[in-house]
Amino acid sequence: MEQCVLEPGKLWWNWFGEQYFVPQYKALPKTEEDVRQIVLAARKLNLPLRASGAGHSNPAIVPTPGVHVDFNAMNQIIAVDEEKLQVTFQPGIRVGELSRYLKGRGMSLNNQGDIDTQAVAGALMTGTHGAGKTLPCMSNQMIAARIVTADGTFLDLSAEHDKTLFNAFQTSLGMFGLIVSITIQAVPSYNILKRSWNADTEDCIGKLHHLLDENRTFWFFWLPVLESASLFELPGGDVPNMATRAHDFCHMRSYNAVPADEPAPPLQTGEEFGHSSAIFPNQYVPNFREIEYAVPFEKFEECFEEIRSLFKTKYPEAMYPVECRAVKADETFLSAYAERDGYAISVSGPLEFPTWGMLNDIDVIFDKYEGRPHWGKHHFMSPARLERLYPRYDAFRKIRREIDPQGVFLNDHLRMLFA
Ligand SMILES: Cc1cc2nc3c(=O)[nH]c(=O)nc-3n(C[C@H](O)[C@H](O)[C@H](O)COP(=O)(O)OP(=O)(O)OC[C@H]3O[C@@H](n4cnc5c(N)ncnc54)[C@H](O)[C@@H]3O)c2cc1C
Repeated sequence: MEQCVLEPGKLWWNWFGEQYFVPQYKALPKTEEDVRQIVLAARKLNLPLRASGAGHSNPAIVPTPGVHVDFNAMNQIIAVDEEKLQVTFQPGIRVGELSRYLKGRGMSLNNQGDIDTQAVAGALMTGTHGAGKTLPCMSNQMIAARIVTADGTFLDLSAEHDKTLFNAFQTSLGMFGLIVSITIQAVPSYNILKRSWNADTEDCIGKLHHLLDENRTFWFFWLPVLESASLFELPGGDVPNMATRAHDFCHMRSYNAVPADEPAPPLQTGEEFGHSSAIFPNQYVPNFREIEYAVPFEKFEECFEEIRSLFKTKYPEAMYPVECRAVKADETFLSAYAERDGYAISVSGPLEFPTWGMLNDIDVIFDKYEGRPHWGKHHFMSPARLERLYPRYDAFRKIRREIDPQGVFLNDHLRMLFA
């Protein structure tokens, strides 16, 4: 049987080229039954399995010596309920493909991150988020899923059926099994009026709460130097510029929803208007090494000031923008927003600069402010630290052990943190 579903392993590398491995076998399923047969074949050979989406995560959450299951060929829509605005699809579909499909059906995703090339399963499993004080991370858009568990059986998960298990699964890095279908709750189609502008950091922080309250989404990049903007392809001179300095200023953005049947407003400099699927995604090139932690919402300003001050005093040559986004609390066990409103702060450096040392110093600051990691970005967690940070860390590990007692869906990185 294994010849049918397992192919010889091939080199896999992630988007950044920082993670790579050659597994013993590779599998490229097209159907739910293919996935079940892959798990059965791996079990017969006593091999572990790990899934990949689009490979846009930094840490070693995909590599496995056993069977690498590539979900690229499972990217079809399965069912649509236009009345309830619910859509069921295969896990490999990209966020952008789903978002554009929804547009054609009069729907939108409630929120997205700032790229749309991730597989939806990958985005959900790591707690990927956009920005907005009232908008939770994307894992909360999922209302049901079907997985193949370690014994090769299908398991349907939903809050309706078992809320505790579902909340644990929502941000579980593929440790419960291989996802074969996902159902999300969409919202009625909306356009976005996007506004971008630059201002002094003091101005941005001084008006922060007003901007967060007045806009569906408000987020900003802190730019230590003028050259920072081009590193993340942020717009140059074509946005209103109220900054009085050419360094230590903020590039800010607000997104506000306009119902799809309302006309486009007249646009000013720095404004764009279009369907949510077109406005959310931005472009990045893999030129950075990043950590992102979410600190408690009320501790953001203090933590941000400490990071800004470290850049100025110890790392004046550091140039990458620092991205800051508010995200609403949720009921998952392990998203960075589990039971806590958070403020995600992303700090990056170049791949060739001694970036690890700088990120390690930033991590010390995050630790002081109880920062929780984004599971798809580099972090420096230990079990003891996770126990401090997540009220339901132990409960998560207990559920994981019950659902996969032999650790079939673990690799070294995940075993260290979650066995
Ligand atoms: C340029 C760039 C911009 C980004 N912007 C944002 C942003 O705005 N907001 C944000 O929060 N994050 C952002 N991220 C992080 C990104 O959203 C996450 O790393 C996300 O997990 C990537 O999705 P992926 O499909 O590439 O998943 P992968 O990295 O391939 O996998 C992620 C996890 O999902 C699991 N998985 C995938 N498919 C399955 C399946 N079928 N069954 C079981 N498990 C599965 C994998 O095993 C792995 O644990 C960004 C990353 C990059 C590179």
